[in-house]
Amino acid sequence: MNIRLSTLFLLLFIILSSWQDPYKQGREALVKNYIEKRGVKDNAVLNAMRNVKRHLFVPQNQMANAYNDRPMPIGYGQTISQPYIVAYMTEIIKPKPDFKVLEIGTGSGYQAAVLAEIVKEVYTIEIVPELGNTAAPRLQKLGYKNVNVKISDGYHGWKEHAPYDAIIVTAAAEFVPPPLIQQLKDGGKIVIPVGSPFMTQTLMLIEKKGKKITTKSLMPVVFVPFTRKG
Ligand code: SAH
Repeated sequence: MNIRLSTLFLLLFIILSSWQDPYKQGREALVKNYIEKRGVKDNAVLNAMRNVKRHLFVPQNQMANAYNDRPMPIGYGQTISQPYIVAYMTEIIKPKPDFKVLEIGTGSGYQAAVLAEIVKEVYTIEIVPELGNTAAPRLQKLGYKNVNVKISDGYHGWKEHAPYDAIIVTAAAEFVPPPLIQQLKDGGKIVIPVGSPFMTQTLMLIEKKGKKITTKSLMPVVFVPFTRKG
């Protein structure tokens, strides 16, 4: 009888938790099969990928596909990045709880939410007002109080809050905008896709050590273009 009762409770628990978050299993599977398997090891990053509900960052009619390891359209010709790439870019900056991170290209706000799970402060800039104005209340509603969204051309960075421990750029630029290097802390890292729009680009890691800037090519990627205002 006792066993039956505990089985019943367990079943009830499973039903209730899947009712609360019907995508939990899909998210777990994505992290295990596509992110951990491909080499992401940082526990804070893996936990953040398990916690952030990607289905709440995509258009409603696309929710069922949110845990495929694919970029997805979010309107205005833009995309939410592929989860593996989000995890990889987050891991490569070696995020610490006391970090202040700048993101260029808020888009849906998904990458910002992943960062916000790990670091102290996230500043994120979006050039398409409609996207920034959707992402900001979305992040607030989800309880991410440590994310600040600004509608602007991210080329100029966000000087008021500089310097940053790390900068993540999620749109492909022809070159690394010099203001971003200026706004980076000594010892800080920038991860940025560099190359021509609509072609395969190279994900680059830029490190600032005193006056020395080192660059490293990481992998081929495809991002939407980094655009400029006016
Ligand atoms: N990080 C986003 C990915 C968005 S795609 C996410 O997790 O959903 C890249 C975004 O960069 C697009 O929304 C695009 O509008 C924006 N973008 C392109 N050029 C920009 C610029 N100069 N400044 C700020 N945002 C820019």
